[in-house]
Amino acid sequence: MHLLVIEDDPLLSRSLTQAMTRNGYTVDALARIDDAIQALRQGRFDLVLLDLGLPDGNGLEVLEWMRAHTDATPVMILTARDALADRVRGLDLGADDYLAKPFSITELEARVRALLRRSQQRLDNNVRFGGLVLDTRSASAWLDGTALDLPRREFSLLEALMLNAGRIVQREALENRLFGFEAVGANALDVYVSRLRKRLAGSGLSIRTLRGLGYRLEEPREPLAKEPPE
Ligand code: CA
Repeated sequence: MHLLVIEDDPLLSRSLTQAMTRNGYTVDALARIDDAIQALRQGRFDLVLLDLGLPDGNGLEVLEWMRAHTDATPVMILTARDALADRVRGLDLGADDYLAKPFSITELEARVRALLRRSQQRLDNNVRFGGLVLDTRSASAWLDGTALDLPRREFSLLEALMLNAGRIVQREALENRLFGFEAVGANALDVYVSRLRKRLAGSGLSIRTLRGLGYRLEEPREPLAKEPPE
């Protein structure tokens, strides 16, 4: 998952980033409305955590911009406890949830999982495909019942492919999710794809490269029916 944190309090921003990274998400953190809109123009995010009191205005401007540009990414507003009017306005503008400061990171984590479940139309925290099970709550994965001890980026890659299993995931979307706006080499993604392929070896599942398009996680093909004898 790729999260955008828009929060100008450096301490809170850092602790949000740390907590979300610990959960296996890729996080980009920004403090200003104009930077946030710039980032939203360039990349796709799975969730936005939005503070309202920002140095260049009210964070609701970001939300307004997103919804006006048909960006339906889930948004969780982080507000001051007494800011009832802001919360109401935020929900009316299309925010998906809010948390009043100070909040517990544990509650934030649970609400983030809930929002992601809803936006991915899942009923629980698990994603399944073939012999793979992925637990988004603990950022862990199993293949045919055996735990895969995946580093964060491999987990994130597998998650993206599983959430779109059988469909092509664009290379750019994967790079975005794995590295955020970090500058990386042209082959950085391939390194992670090849590591993941090694882990899936023997399972029948494969990550197919579609040149110029992206990657697709596939189940083993059914063996072709034999031609009837002449
Ligand atoms: Ca603030």
